[in-house]
Parts: sequence; C-alpha cells; structure tokens
Amino acid sequence: MEQTKGSLTVVSGFSGAGKGTIMKALLKKYESYCLSVSCTTRKPRPHEVDGKDYFFISQDEFDARIERGEFLEYARYVDHSYGTPLPWVEEKVKEGRDVLLEIEAQGAAIVKKKRPDTIMLFVVTPDAKTLVQRLTGRGTETKEVIAERLEQATREIDRISSYDMLIVNDDLDAAVERVHNAIQTLKYSPIRQADFLSDFRKDLIGEREKL
Ligand code: 5GP
Repeated sequence: MEQTKGSLTVVSGFSGAGKGTIMKALLKKYESYCLSVSCTTRKPRPHEVDGKDYFFISQDEFDARIERGEFLEYARYVDHSYGTPLPWVEEKVKEGRDVLLEIEAQGAAIVKKKRPDTIMLFVVTPDAKTLVQRLTGRGTETKEVIAERLEQATREIDRISSYDMLIVNDDLDAAVERVHNAIQTLKYSPIRQADFLSDFRKDLIGEREKL
C-alpha cells in the first residue's frame, strides 16, 4: 500500500502530563513526523523561543488572523488564545508527512469535525497525584495557575471519550513508542484510507473487465 498523503494527529492531554516532552522525543527518534507550531497570546516561559515553541503574538494580531481565516482551529485556554496555523498543516500533510498538533480538547474537537480522519490521542499521567507533582515540579507557574490547570483537567475528562486512544505517560520511552505505534496503526483504519480503497475498487473493476 502506497502512502501518498500524510496523516494528521491531535495530541491532547492534561497540562503537566508530559505531551511536550513526548513530542520532542518522538520527533528526535522518527523522521516522518513534524510538529505544528501554534500561535498564542500568553507570555513566553523563560526557556521558550519565539517561532520554535510558539509564535507569541498579541491579542489584536490573533484576532486579525482569525478574521483572515488563517487558523485550522483556535481556542481560549486559561485566559489566553491558542491557534493552529492552517496553511502549514495543509502543506505538510500534502507532502506526505505525519503531522502532529499538540492542542487542548476544545480545539481538538474542531479539528476532528473539520477533518474526520484525524487521529486523536490523549496523554495522561498514571494517576492524579502524579499530575499535581509534575505541575508543581515545573516551578514555572504560580499556585493560582496550577489550580486553574487542574480545574481545566477536570473539565477535560468529559471530552476524552471522543479520542481514539489514551497514552499513559509512566515512562518516557514507553510513551513515545505508544504514540508511534498508535499513529502507525490507526492511519491504516479504513476511514483513513478512503483514497486507497477507491483506487482499489476502480482497479478491481478494470481487472474484472480484462478476464
Ligand atoms: P501551554 O500554555 O501549557 O503551553 O498550553 C496550554 C494548552 O494549550 C495545552 O493543553 C496545549 O496543548 C494547548 N495548545 C497549544 N497550542 C494550541 C493550539 O494551537 N490550539 C489549541 N486549541 N490548543 C493549543
């Protein structure tokens, strides 16, 4: 089976579950993947680089991009806006790359609605206590922000049933392999191979006529 088109995968997960770390390790290990860089109105954290971790833009600029239809999806998350640049994603999928979107659950639902063949993965910690420990251990957020993120996680639980698979992040290497295996398996489900199946049908008719 020839893969002419790339796949699109949404990776969501509780803030602090380790999505970012898993994505970085996945990109390092396998060349077929590329990760979309989102726009956000939140301020950069100390180690973050503009254009690499996010495009850090003002709310006015964000609103102008919405007006121009430049986002595949966008959402508010804990008082800030986040959005996925549409042209970049389309281009990479056309090039045959396996594109990853590390986005929260509201935006993920929009992507799934627009592109029903999107693979949906949700990263969780083995338990709630580990999630709190990881958020506190980052040392980059205030107590209030951590509380907001835990409240957000409680709301996100209800949306998880629309995802294809849970990725438990108990061990980084194992979690990277779980993401890789999930994508490489799910991209061959019939709904994601509509072009292959329609070509197969046409060729089958041709072969029958030759008999
Ligand atoms: P953080 O501020 O911790 O970097 O991200 C907060 C949340 O926003 C995370 O769950 C992250 O996955 C999500 N996020 C990052 N970029 C986007 C985006 O472009 N769209 C949406 N909907 N969520 C995003």
